[in-house]
Amino acid sequence: MATETGIKSYQLLINGQSVPAASGATFDTLSPTTNEPVGRIAKAGIEDVNRAVAAAREAFDHGPWPKMTPAERSKRMHKVADLLRERLEEIARLETLNCGKIIIESRGDVNASANCFDYYANLTGHSWGETIPMNGPLFDYTLRQPVGVCAQIIPWNFPLLMAAWKLGPALATGNTIILKPASATPITALLLGQLCLEAGIPEGVVNVLPGPGAEIGAALAEHPGVDKVAFTGETETGRQIIRLSAGTIKKVSLELGGKSPNIVFPDADLEEAVNGSLFAIFTNAGQRCTARTRLFLHESIHDKFMADFLAKAGKIRVGDPLEDATQMGPVISSRQCQRILSFVERASGEGADLRLGGKRPESDVLKKGNFIEPTIFDQVKNDMTIAQEEVFGPVLSVIPFKDDGEVVEMANNVIYGLAATIWTNDLKRAHRLAASIRAGNVSINYPTVNPPEAPFGGFKQSGIGRELSRHALDLYTEIKNVVINLNDQPFDWYGNWPVGR
Ligand code: NAD
Repeated sequence: MATETGIKSYQLLINGQSVPAASGATFDTLSPTTNEPVGRIAKAGIEDVNRAVAAAREAFDHGPWPKMTPAERSKRMHKVADLLRERLEEIARLETLNCGKIIIESRGDVNASANCFDYYANLTGHSWGETIPMNGPLFDYTLRQPVGVCAQIIPWNFPLLMAAWKLGPALATGNTIILKPASATPITALLLGQLCLEAGIPEGVVNVLPGPGAEIGAALAEHPGVDKVAFTGETETGRQIIRLSAGTIKKVSLELGGKSPNIVFPDADLEEAVNGSLFAIFTNAGQRCTARTRLFLHESIHDKFMADFLAKAGKIRVGDPLEDATQMGPVISSRQCQRILSFVERASGEGADLRLGGKRPESDVLKKGNFIEPTIFDQVKNDMTIAQEEVFGPVLSVIPFKDDGEVVEMANNVIYGLAATIWTNDLKRAHRLAASIRAGNVSINYPTVNPPEAPFGGFKQSGIGRELSRHALDLYTEIKNVVINLNDQPFDWYGNWPVGR
C-alpha cells in the first residue's frame, strides 16, 4: 500500500491480521545508502504487545499448532522455504534497501533462510524423549514438549536470517511466537511472517511487532504471558534482558557480541589466509557478531602478509549495495557511522598505527549514505579499546605475536567468546589451538561459516545456549518426566515402596 508520499506502508502482524498500531503511530525506516525513507512502519506500543501475547497465548493454549503432527508442521515449514526461494530476488532487494548489505550477501541470506526452514522442517519429529531404567517395577520415560509462547528479539545486521534462525527451531517444536525485529530493519521480518501464513501456519502462531526495543522489547521480556525470550543483540542489552525476565523466571537464550580472533601462522597458505581474512572482517561492512576483528599475525610473516593484505583491502569496491560489483556497502545508520569513527579516533589516540581508511569516502554520492572506508590499524596492543570493545563496523586491529602460548593468551583475553579462525597447515597445532581458544565456533583455514546443521553460540559474555543444529531444539522444549507404576501389589504407605526411596 502506498502512502501519500509514495513510501510503502507496513503493518504489524497480530493473530494473522495486518493491523495498524493501537495508537496509530508509525515511523519511517531509512535506507543506509541514502538516508531516505524506504518504508512507513506501524510502531507497536504496549497495547500491541498485550494483543500479540494474547494471540500467541491462545494459539498455543487452544490452537492446532502445538498438537499438529510433526509431518503436518514439516509440510508447512518446507512451504515457507519454497516461498522464500520463489521470491528470492524481490526479498533480497528489500533486504539490501533496508539494511544496506550488498545484494550478493542478501541473496545468500534469503537462500540461507530457506535452508534453515528446510533443515528444521526435517527435524519436526526429532524432539524425542528417553526411557529410563528404574530399580523396581516402574516404567519411566521423558517427553519433550514445547516451551510455549516465545518472544524472539533480533538485531539489524541479518534481519531475515536472524528471524529464520529463531523461527525455525521454535516452530519445529510447536511453539508460538512474537518476533520483534530491530526498528531499523523490520521489512523482511514482516514479510516472513506473511509467508508463514501463506504456507498454512495458523493465525496467531507467528506475530511480528516492530517498535522501540527499550519499550516493547522490554515489555516482552517482562510479560507474564511469555514463557521464553530468545534474544540476539548487544551484550549490554542481553544483560538487561536477563534482569527484565527474572521477575517471571523465563527461559532465556542469548546470542550476543564478539571480538573474534583470526590467527595466521607462518606455515599457513598465506594467499588463502589473506583472502579469507579480508572476507572475515569486511563482509557486511564488518557488522557481523562473528567478524574476525582482531588479526593476529606471527611476527615472521607480518610484513609479507600486510603488504598483500593492505593492497587488496585498498581495492575493495565500496558503493551502492544494489550493484552486483560492489563489495562493501554502508553501515546501518549515521549514528553507527559516528560511533565507528569515534573508535577510530580513540585507537589513533591510544597509539595504534592507522594503515588504511579511517574515514568516510570522498565521493559526493556516497556522502549521502553511511559509508566508511575499510579501516586497518596495525601494531595494536590487545589491551587497547579498539581490541577489546565491539566496534561493529569495517575496522580491523592487527596484533603481531611471537608464539602459540602468547597468541592463545591474547585471543582469550576479552570478555567475549563467540568465534575464532586459525590459519595453519600443522594439524597438531590446529587441534591444540581449537581446543584452547574459549569460543563457541572455531574455523580452521576457513574464514567464517554458520550452516544450519552446526551449533552456533558463545562462551563467556557472548551468550547463553546454542542456536542452529539439533541443539536449538533443546532451547524450545521442556523435558517432562513420566513414571508409571507396574507393581501389581496395592500401594502401601507404610510398607515397601516399589522404588524411589
Ligand atoms: P541491540 O542490542 O541494540 O538490539 C537488538 C534488539 O533488541 C533490537 O530488536 C532492539 O530493538 C532490541 N532492544 C533494544 N533494547 C532493548 C531492551 N532494553 N529490551 C529488550 N529489547 C531491546 O543490538 P543491535 O545494535 O540491533 O545489533 C548489533 C549487536 O547484535 C552486536 O552486538 C552484535 O554482535 C550482536 N549480534 C549477535 C549475534 C549472535 O548470534 N551472537 C548475531 C547478530 C548480532
